[in-house]
Amino acid sequence: MQTVTVLGATGSIGCSTLDVLQRHPDRYRVFALTGNNQLEKLMEQAKACSARYVVVADEARYLDAIALAEQYGVTSEILCGAKALEEVSSDAQVTTVMAAIVGAAGLLPTLAAVKAGKRVLLANKEALVMSGELFIDAANQSGAEILPIDSEHNAIFQCLPHTFSYGQFAASGIHQILLTGSGGPFRTRELSTFSDITVSEACAHPNWSMGRKITVDSATMMNKGLEFIEACWLFGATAKDITVVLHPQSVVHSMVQYTDGSVIAQLGNPDMRTPIAYGLAWPERINAGVAPLDFAQMRDLSFDSPCYERYPNLQLAIMACEAGQAATTRLNAANEVAVAAFLEGQIGFTRIAEINQETLNRMEPTIVSSLQQILEEDQKARQMALSLVRGLR
Ligand code: NDP
Repeated sequence: MQTVTVLGATGSIGCSTLDVLQRHPDRYRVFALTGNNQLEKLMEQAKACSARYVVVADEARYLDAIALAEQYGVTSEILCGAKALEEVSSDAQVTTVMAAIVGAAGLLPTLAAVKAGKRVLLANKEALVMSGELFIDAANQSGAEILPIDSEHNAIFQCLPHTFSYGQFAASGIHQILLTGSGGPFRTRELSTFSDITVSEACAHPNWSMGRKITVDSATMMNKGLEFIEACWLFGATAKDITVVLHPQSVVHSMVQYTDGSVIAQLGNPDMRTPIAYGLAWPERINAGVAPLDFAQMRDLSFDSPCYERYPNLQLAIMACEAGQAATTRLNAANEVAVAAFLEGQIGFTRIAEINQETLNRMEPTIVSSLQQILEEDQKARQMALSLVRGLR
């Protein structure tokens, strides 16, 4: 029996995780659920799965949460704040933590789970983008099992040889990782119209149903850029070991190309319950509730190379990956600010990449190695990006 904490339970990944957990009450019980704004949803979830703890990230909402818990008849203990997120991630009773808070806010509770040696189902890619080296070192020290939930990294994990050791590409006969991405809703849109893109157009992903931030990141392909960085840390790859491939149908979730000419791919319907179930049950397999892929119904599977003029964020992320931890932390922070400003109607779509680029250009190169330095760099980049959003610089 695994005892599971779901960080970000109210989000898209959180809901899919609870769906899989509820299919297997004999294997999993829920220890804690966490949320931020969607308190009603959080209480409904807590009641349905009899969570022992409910954590509300925003301390200002504590009294609201207590009142709602009473209204919904929730018997879970209600906690709040950043410290409580870390506590329910590292509690001795917990075996498994789903890290599905969006953005930099997920870093500290995810790291707490890693340091406590848990099985960590890593959806929150921003944690590795910000703190890759620290994160991997902490996992090596604690013995935490990091299982990638991002569908691409989960696919790569499934396609690597069982004997693969971290960073050993040539020794494992691997030529390269082929990281696939759909290209989002604007893959064929006329470039000259990009400045007219609306929030609702950017939030309409052709294949996946996801939270708003990652959906916008998919439209700019910053998501693929963050995944590129994430893949480097997860598998010990360098930028030259990875090629991004456009694959509009999102059926092939990524591939590993071997030196003998073989390519091993993982395929499936675009439904996050597959990688979630894989991470929960690994090395076994369990029913995820996902419809089987129907090859008779499948039309073309097509592939292409991404064009950086269309996706400048992808190029920025690859360059940041080569530049190091300070650059990836800054890029992630700037992008969170820029995407939030776009979603609030403060800036146009093409300004997202411009603000990201400007933030990187205006900050001096530096080396970050401690968590404190990473958090400081994150804050400085947010300030820079915010002032660019406001047109102050
Ligand atoms: P959502 O926006 O749907 O959900 C985000 C979750 O994080 C919610 O539970 C939200 O709470 C919580 N949250 C938001 N802000 C804070 C905060 N400041 N402190 C604590 N909790 C907070 O995101 P997704 O589920 O789409 O994505 C989650 C993560 O998984 C992201 O890092 C994303 O990149 C990654 N991912 C997502 C995929 C997907 O298919 N959705 C695929 C692969 C990776 P509330 O809603 O209550 O405010």
